[in-house]
This record gives sequence, structure tokens and C-alpha cells, in this order.
Amino acid sequence: MNQKSLLELVKKHGSPLFVVDHAELRKNYALFRKHFPRVQIYYAVKVNSDPAIVKTFYELGGSFDVASIQEFRTVYQCIAKLPAKQRQDFIWDKIIYANPIKPVETLEELDRYKPLVTYDNHEEVKKIAKHAPHAGLALRLRVPNTGSMVELSSKFGALPGEAVDLIKYAHEHDLVVEGLSFHVGSQCTNPQNYIQAINLCANIFAEAKSRGFNLKLLDIGGGFPAAYDATVPKFSALAKTINHELDRLFPKEIEILAEPGRFLVASAGTAVSKIIGKAFRNEKLGYYVDDGVYHTYSGVIFDHCTYHLKSFKRGAPQVCAVFGPTCDALDTISLSEELPDLEIGEYLYSENIGAYSAASSTHFNGFPPATVVHVNQ
Ligand SMILES: *Cc1c(COP(=O)(O)O)cnc(C)c1O
Repeated sequence: MNQKSLLELVKKHGSPLFVVDHAELRKNYALFRKHFPRVQIYYAVKVNSDPAIVKTFYELGGSFDVASIQEFRTVYQCIAKLPAKQRQDFIWDKIIYANPIKPVETLEELDRYKPLVTYDNHEEVKKIAKHAPHAGLALRLRVPNTGSMVELSSKFGALPGEAVDLIKYAHEHDLVVEGLSFHVGSQCTNPQNYIQAINLCANIFAEAKSRGFNLKLLDIGGGFPAAYDATVPKFSALAKTINHELDRLFPKEIEILAEPGRFLVASAGTAVSKIIGKAFRNEKLGYYVDDGVYHTYSGVIFDHCTYHLKSFKRGAPQVCAVFGPTCDALDTISLSEELPDLEIGEYLYSENIGAYSAASSTHFNGFPPATVVHVNQ
């Protein structure tokens, strides 16, 4: 988004503003397709669950990774328009429920759709057998998350040593395990995580086969890094490494899924906020803006992400802090930005803030989330 359009939008819609550029969503989707021709894309809805974003990916032929019944319903709204027969044949191709822990009420609601769901423990098998006996299963494995910005392996994932026993346990409960899934950690800049995980899965495929269980699909999860800065490895190089391992270890008939989230939406989101106050604190200029870490900048806390702020006006840069509008000191966007001297009422903006941002906005302190505007839809 260029500065002129952003300024026009914020003047029209007010601040704080969260702009989603659908041309950028389509560009990222096409890039993923191009570099992973063998892989079906299941967009991880939690990263930004805006129904307009889901619709854009759906229209491109995308599928979805959902992790709650609410996310399932958001996606199902797109599918519901299809004829009934097609809808049922379609559901695995379109949705994976990839939260290994599911409330009983969710399983009961999901069962009639014959869903594909992940699991990683014995209790979950018992729950699924009782409350969603028509589900297909994918076993989530614990894999190395070394060097990823957000670690995702301490909460979920069966140990490789337990894998085949967990597959057997599911079969004993009349459930079919279709394949394996993993997540290498979000914003994964270390290709070794993917290589190790794929090799681990190939070993488990072989062990399962030797014990009479034929696995058919491999879900390589998310983690594909957004190009936040020049230190992030090139996507094409990462894709080449991953494809090489997939082709070496998994025959053509094995279906490969991926659940990219951040990669598809990070660069499509821009946040615009207004300066509402200005003060010198600790010998440093501080700007107070009308968006913060309880809102669009929630990634500062939950996503371990740093966002830079830019001004629309040029001028000699000086080191300053930028704070959000709430009364909590935690509501600090950055303690070291370089911005020119700006007045109250002027605007700041941050790019590459489409992932894990507006999705976890709150109403804390009475400040509502930023207004969302979709462009190039
Ligand atoms: C969060 C999540 C994703 C998306 O991860 P990104 O790093 O944003 O690509 C994919 N799959 C699962 C199971 C997740 O929990």
C-alpha cells in the first residue's frame, strides 16, 4: 500500500485502521502454489479469521486449517453454498480440524460432517471414538522447533516413539488414521526443522506399514516465514529444500498438505494509527497513539514480533518510544523507533502486520479494535 492511499483511507474511515490488501493475499497464495506444486494449501484461519480473507482464499481454490468450532463455521459458510453431495465429498479436501484437543461439544457438532481431525494422545482417541466416530484422523507429532520465532512443540505432539502405538490404539477404537502432521514452529527460518520432521515422518510411515497400517497423507503444517526483513531466508530456497525431501521420501500417491498462515497474510496487513499525545520521559520523546498491544499490535506480546512505525512526514529522525492508548505500561509498541518531530493528530503506520495482530485484538480499557478496511477485493 502506498502512503497516499493509506492517508486517504484513514481520513475516510478514521483511526485506528487495519487495512487488508487482497491483491497481496492473492500474490502470496500464488507464490506458495508456484513453489509447492505438489502441496494443497490449508490456510491456518487463526492467523486472521476475517471471513473476507477466508473467502478470497476459498475462491482461489484454497483449503483451511481450523482450530475451533467458530473457525469451522466461518469456513463452512463458503462450502455451504455447494450442493449437498459435493459438500460431503469435499470436506477433507477443504477443511482439517488441526487442534489436537477438542471439546466434547465440538466433536458432537463436527461428527455429521465426517471431518478430518488431528490428535496426539490416548484420551483424545477415546473422546473421538465416542463423540465423533465418523471422523478421520491425522496424528500430530512433536518435532524440533529450533530457532523458530514462536515455539509450538511444548503443548502438542506425540513423541515419535509413541506414534505407531497411538495409530494402533485408534484402530482398536474403529478409527482410521489417514496420516501424520507436525508444526516446526512459527516464522521458521531454519530449514533443518522441516528436513528433520519430514525424515521422522518417513520413518514412521515405514514402521506403520510394517505393522499393517497404511498412511496416505502428510501434513507439513505451517511455519513458512514472512519476509519481515532481509535476514529471512528466501522462500524459493526453503521450498526447494522441502520439495527435495518430500520427493525423495514420499511417493507421488501420498497426499501432501500444508497449513501456512503467517506467510499468506503478514504482508497483506497495514496498521494506521493517530498520535494522541506526546511527552518526554526518561530523556526520550514518547508518542502515544490510538492503537497498541491490546489491539492490532498484540503480536508484540503474543507473537514475539517487533513492528516498525513509519511517519507520513519526512524530517530529521530522532530516537523515540511509541506507546498504545491504554493505562497499562505493558502497552508499549516500541522503545526505540526513529521518527521525525510529529504533531498530535498526525498518523503513523506499520507494514507487514497482517498475521497474529487484529486476530487477537481486545476491548481492554474500553478501546475497541481498529476498523478493518478491505482493498482490492
Ligand atoms: C498456528 C498454526 C498454523 C499456522 O502457522 P504459521 O506459522 O502462521 O504458518 C498451522 N498449523 C497449526 C496446527 C497451527 O497451530
